[in-house]
Amino acid sequence: MIIDFHTHPFITKEQNSCFYENTVKDPEDFARLMHRAGIDVWCGSVIEKGTSLDTVKVLNDTALKLKEFYGEKYIPGIHIHPNFVEESIEMLEYYAQKGVRLAGELVPYYHGWEHYYDEGLHSIYEKINTLNMVVSLHTQSEESMEQAIKTFKDIIFVCAHPRDRVDLENHISRLKKYDNCYLDLSGTGLFRFGMLKKLVNEVGSEKILFGTDFPICNPEMYVRAVDFEEISSKDKDNIYFKNAQRVLGI
Ligand SMILES: [Zn+2]
Repeated sequence: MIIDFHTHPFITKEQNSCFYENTVKDPEDFARLMHRAGIDVWCGSVIEKGTSLDTVKVLNDTALKLKEFYGEKYIPGIHIHPNFVEESIEMLEYYAQKGVRLAGELVPYYHGWEHYYDEGLHSIYEKINTLNMVVSLHTQSEESMEQAIKTFKDIIFVCAHPRDRVDLENHISRLKKYDNCYLDLSGTGLFRFGMLKKLVNEVGSEKILFGTDFPICNPEMYVRAVDFEEISSKDKDNIYFKNAQRVLGI
C-alpha cells in the first residue's frame, strides 16, 4: 500500500503542472501513471496561477469533481486565501461537509499572497482547527511557517519538500520542536542517498509522509528511493501509508 500525500491532479490544460508539456495527458492518464508507479491513493490540491477568489473557487470545485471521478483513490485538498477571509471560511465549511479533510498544498506564490502567518489567516486557521482538517504547506519563509505551527498547536501542518542541508536541518529542528509538525517527501531531497535515513534517525518515522509532487516529478523514482534507504520495513510502512492514514483519518 502506498499513499502519495502530495500530488496535483488536474482537468484543464492550465491546471496541468507537468514539467514538460503533455507528459501526463488527462485525469485518466494521471491515474494510469500513479498505478504504474505502485501508488494506490493520491492526495492534494489542483493548482493554477491567479490571484482572484474565482481562481480559488474553480480549483476547489475541480478537486471535488476529480474526487467524483477517482472515488476512494483521491483525497482532495482545497485552497484558502487570506485576502478573502469570510469566503475562505465559507468554503472550508462547505467542503468539510462534502468530506474534505485536507487544506493544501497551499501555494501562496501562485495566488498572490505572501506568508503563512498573514493576519487574514488567523480566523481561517481557527476554522480549520474546528473542522479538524490537516494543512499541507509549500515550504517557504521559515519564520512565518514556524509561527503558524507554533501558534495553532492543534492543527497538523505537513510541510513539503525536504530539500538539502540548511533547509533539511530547519525541517528537523521544527519536527523535533513541534508535535503538530510533519514533513512530506515530495520535491527535492530524496535523491540524496541517506537523507531519509538521517530524518528517521533524528525524528523517527511517524512524522514523515510519502509524497512526490506528481505530475511535476517522476513518482516511481520516489517509490524506489524510499525502498532503497536502509531503514526498517516498519519505518517504510509508516512513511508509505500508515502516517497518512492516521493523519487524514482514512
Ligand atoms: Zn506541490
